Amino acid sequence: MKKVLVTGGSRGIGKAITEKFLEHGYEVAAPTRQELDLLDSESIEKYVQAHKEDGFDIIVNNAGINDIHEIENITDEEIERMIATNLVAPIKLLRGFTESMKQKKYGRIVNIGSIWAVVSKGGRCVYSATKNGIHGVTNTLAVELAADNILVNTVCPGFTMTELTVKNNTPEEIAQISANIPMQRMARPEEIAEVVYFLCSEQNTYLTGQKITVDGGYTER
Ligand code: NDP
Repeated sequence: MKKVLVTGGSRGIGKAITEKFLEHGYEVAAPTRQELDLLDSESIEKYVQAHKEDGFDIIVNNAGINDIHEIENITDEEIERMIATNLVAPIKLLRGFTESMKQKKYGRIVNIGSIWAVVSKGGRCVYSATKNGIHGVTNTLAVELAADNILVNTVCPGFTMTELTVKNNTPEEIAQISANIPMQRMARPEEIAEVVYFLCSEQNTYLTGQKITVDGGYTER
C-alpha cells in the first residue's frame, strides 16, 4: 500500500487531498501541528527522524499561510513566518524523505503553489515570493530526481472556498471575485484534490516539473 504525507491536512484543500487518497485506499499521514509544526525546525527534524526509515511514496506539501499587507506594512515576523512555512519547511521535509524514495525507485511529490505565482495582485509580495520559490523547488527536483522515477509537480489553485479565503475576503469580496472568474465561482477543495491525486497516482508516469493551474480560467482572462 502506498504511503502518503500531506501537510496541512486538518482543513481546506489539505483535508480534501487527505480524503481523496483515503477514498482510493492509500495510507495517509496528515500530522497535526502538535505532531509536525512547520514553524519549528526541531519539530520538523523530529518528524523526519521518526519516519525516515519507512519514508513515504508520496508527499504533498500543502500547508501554507498568507498574510496580506502592502510592502511598507509587513512585519519581520510575518515575512519570516511565511517563508518558513511555505518554503523552508517543504524543502526540509523533502530533504528528509527523498532518500527512501530513491531506494524504492518510486516517488510522487506535489507542492501546492498559487495563482499568485502565475499572476500578481498587490499585498502579496512575500506570499508570491514563497509560491514562486516553491516552484523553483519543483523545477530543480524534477530534474534531479527523474532518473529515480520520482515525479515532482506544482499545483497552483485559484480562489478556493476554504477558511484562508474566508479570512482574507469579505462575503461581498467573495461574490465580486466569483463574478470575475470565467467559471463564475470559486473552486471546491475537492476539485484541487482531484488534480493532486492524478499527479500522484499510478496513472501519472511521465508528467514532471510542471506548474498546473487549477483556477476556473481566472489567469487566462
Ligand atoms: P487553510 O488556511 O484552510 O489551512 C491551512 C493548513 O495549513 C491547516 O491545516 C493548518 O493547520 C496548516 N498549517 C499552517 N501553518 C502550519 C504550521 N506551522 N505547521 C503545521 N501546519 C500548519 O489553507 P487552504 O486549504 O486554503 O490552503 C492550502 C494551500 O493552498 C496553501 O499552501 C495555500 O497557500 C494554497 N492556496 C490556497 C488558495 C485558496 O484560495 N484557499 C488559493 C491558492 C493557493 P492548523 O489547522 O493547525 O492551523
